[in-house]
Amino acid sequence: MSRLTHLECTRCGEHYPADRPQTVCPKDGGILYARYDLAAIKRSFSSANLAARAPTMWRYDAVLPEADPVSLGEGFTPMLTSREYPNVYIKDEGLNPTGSFKARGLSAAVTMARHFGLKKLAIPSAGNAAGALAAYAAAAGLEAHIFMPRDVPMANRIECDYYGAHVTLVDGLISDCAKKVAELKDSEVWKNDAWFDVSTTKEPYRVEGKKTMGYEVAEQLGWNLPRGIIYPTGGGVGLLGMWKAFDEMEALGWISPEKPGSERPKMIVVQSTGCAPIVKAWDEGKSASEMWTKAATLASGLRVPKPYGDYLILDILKKSHGAAVSATDDEILDATRHWAKTEGIFAAPEGAACLVAYRKLLASGFFKPEDTVVLFNTGSGLKYLDVLDAGVARTLVSARPTHVAAGDSSAPVASQKLQPAARHIGGIIGPY
Ligand SMILES: [Zn+2]
Repeated sequence: MSRLTHLECTRCGEHYPADRPQTVCPKDGGILYARYDLAAIKRSFSSANLAARAPTMWRYDAVLPEADPVSLGEGFTPMLTSREYPNVYIKDEGLNPTGSFKARGLSAAVTMARHFGLKKLAIPSAGNAAGALAAYAAAAGLEAHIFMPRDVPMANRIECDYYGAHVTLVDGLISDCAKKVAELKDSEVWKNDAWFDVSTTKEPYRVEGKKTMGYEVAEQLGWNLPRGIIYPTGGGVGLLGMWKAFDEMEALGWISPEKPGSERPKMIVVQSTGCAPIVKAWDEGKSASEMWTKAATLASGLRVPKPYGDYLILDILKKSHGAAVSATDDEILDATRHWAKTEGIFAAPEGAACLVAYRKLLASGFFKPEDTVVLFNTGSGLKYLDVLDAGVARTLVSARPTHVAAGDSSAPVASQKLQPAARHIGGIIGPY
């Protein structure tokens, strides 16, 4: 059914075979995109065929690589109508397995890793990607090797432990974790024992999993697209994936720029004022971001000082006539509580940042109240209890076991300042 033909570099356009594990373009480090024979898919499969399919992201397997899926039921999350703003939808990714949107990308990446016979999957991560990798590796019978800062949010550390992942706690930030993975890559065991690095955008299939969010937005809105999509952007894989999905759906004839209602949405990046490299680059009219120094925000998923795919994110903002908006941690905390109270959605702080951005874009006239806008809640607030509630953080610190699963020896949590906004979160993803 799948018609994956090759991988294509998003920088130089070079083609690479898709029948073996690939990382990034060897020539220029460009991110590789999976390409399909969309004309053949168009002849054999239509969007009408989807109705009878299982409510997971694998319902779109016609446009995913052909492999036996490692699935825990990810995707096809609810598109909830806001109680506060009648033309706003909240795409609730917190209902995915492992409580975040990371399930989609890791389901696809682990599927392909197993397909290629890889055995040991390494990830430098400080948050939800680690938990998702640990879960899917467990389901696939593969080893997950997670390199996390010692002071990660508790939920991520505990879930990785329970999923049986090999967790190495590192003194430092995720850049230091990435160095550990880089050291491993230089070792003999890396090749001999079929290791693979599933860092974000460093392999082609996490984007494929994330692109299903774009297919779902269209399908759940009756093959229409909203006027805007607001997306909390750390690494930005979902933004890349959704835009790729729109390209594919146009080629498949599922949406059309000529059909009223299915024009491309304005893509909106929201970041924290404590780490806003894309907002800065966008404001300065640049085509790539600069490394953000001293990144600090309680929204750990947004602590990405220089996303690897920045050149693609900024290009999408330009092409879609979008925008990049930042939110302070106080605004994010306030929005998290507001969403919980008014919508009944206990969101991840990153997701609630979308509400802050929406309010700002409404106030500036960028969006009108009648515009349909989709806000992405990327995860469940339940994974951030020690971030959102100082009392929980205190309890967890005092009750913390003196021994952790694997890797480095344990030590007390570094942070002694337990006010939510002051808690230090090691959540930087890339660049490495
Ligand atoms: Zn290239």
